[in-house]
Amino acid sequence: MKQNLITKIKFKYLLALGMTAAISLIGLFTLFYTISSQRTNAEVINISGRQRALLQRTALNSLRFVSNQLQPHTYTELLEERENLRKELLKDIDLMEKSHEQLINGNLTVNLPGSTQSQIKSVYYEAPIYLDTKIKTYIKQVRTLALLPDSQHSTYNTQLNYISLAASGDLVSSLETVVSRYQKESEDAISRLQFLSITVLCIIMLLLIFEALFIFKPMVDLIKEENKQLEEKNKILQDLSSNDGLTGIANRRYFNEFISQEWARLSHTSIPLSIIMIDIDYFKTYNDTYGHQAGDECLKKVASTLANALKHTGNLAARYGGEEFAVVLPDTSRNEAVFVAEKLRADIEEVRIPHVKSDISDHVTISLGVATVIPQYDSSPDELIKSADQALYNAKNSGRNQVKIYAMSR
Ligand code: GH3
Ligand code: MG
Ligand code: MG
Repeated sequence: MKQNLITKIKFKYLLALGMTAAISLIGLFTLFYTISSQRTNAEVINISGRQRALLQRTALNSLRFVSNQLQPHTYTELLEERENLRKELLKDIDLMEKSHEQLINGNLTVNLPGSTQSQIKSVYYEAPIYLDTKIKTYIKQVRTLALLPDSQHSTYNTQLNYISLAASGDLVSSLETVVSRYQKESEDAISRLQFLSITVLCIIMLLLIFEALFIFKPMVDLIKEENKQLEEKNKILQDLSSNDGLTGIANRRYFNEFISQEWARLSHTSIPLSIIMIDIDYFKTYNDTYGHQAGDECLKKVASTLANALKHTGNLAARYGGEEFAVVLPDTSRNEAVFVAEKLRADIEEVRIPHVKSDISDHVTISLGVATVIPQYDSSPDELIKSADQALYNAKNSGRNQVKIYAMSR
């Protein structure tokens, strides 16, 4: 079930990542494409502008070529000047023809794609402009003019007439129309790019919202749930490692941890630490009389009685092993510890767990050994435990169901 959910989230996550990547790539490619077509458009606008300049220069040079307005000093210089003008005219008109070809058919070496836009094509081939025909005629007229023999030079010839008219109005405005159409095409492309980038941005935003709602939130919820379960498991493990399985009170491992901790804390002070070692009297006989299971129940009752008596005191009751218990009393003097031990002894007696085979009572009783010390940081609690054990041994030997204090304890 959870595995299923994880797989689903993984799938959605990969899908969203893939979509984001795809959208970004589309955006990037479109950007590259638009930039490169803008470069082309700039080239086209540049060449169309040059056509216009060539038109005006060839028209002016045509007039100078036939008008004898040149002012050289000698006849040879006149011929030379005219020859120069002819060459210039032919050169300009060749360039104009070549550029015209490139604008219409394209040329990869100068990055021209050829005019694919029907709007621009219509300027070249359709009414009312027929720019293609007009430019070709113009070129033809200039070439004819440039190749005229000197004898026919006059400002009254048909070619010059055509050339002047074209350059002063009709052809110029047609060329301007083409330039403005190219410009418009370029502006349209920019608007399309703007629209596209806004669309891509919106799609990416939507994708992010989708990811937040359907991927990250479930993922976070899942992690939270996992954490909660882990914490619960940890607590169970913690309890298992510090509590006794049968009685539920602290176990010997936790007793050791607690006493070491208190030892370390009090070793910086001159405050005493006391412990009480406790053993149930004639417990083997109890088991023999009532059975092992009843023995377990008895252990539980003794344990809970001890624990209850010490509740909220900062003292710890632990099962030390078998039918032995240990109590740690931090900040407790020997007299106070004896008082507590006496109370514990009386409490167990008061529970009145029947024990008919006990040599000393009709009920379950305990023997207790008390030891007290002011902890030193260069020693350990082992000595204190041994002392309390010694006191317990004395209590057993002195007739059981009683409290004994370790005689030599500091
Ligand atoms: P004394 O008064 O000298 O302490 O005598 P005793 O019989 O209590 O001491 P002894 O050490 O001879 O016997 C302890 C018994 O405790 C033996 C063992 O079967 C019993 N015991 C230890 N652990 C458990 C337990 O977890 N459950 C039960 N039912 N009995 C246990
Ligand atoms: Mg024992
Ligand atoms: Mg015993």
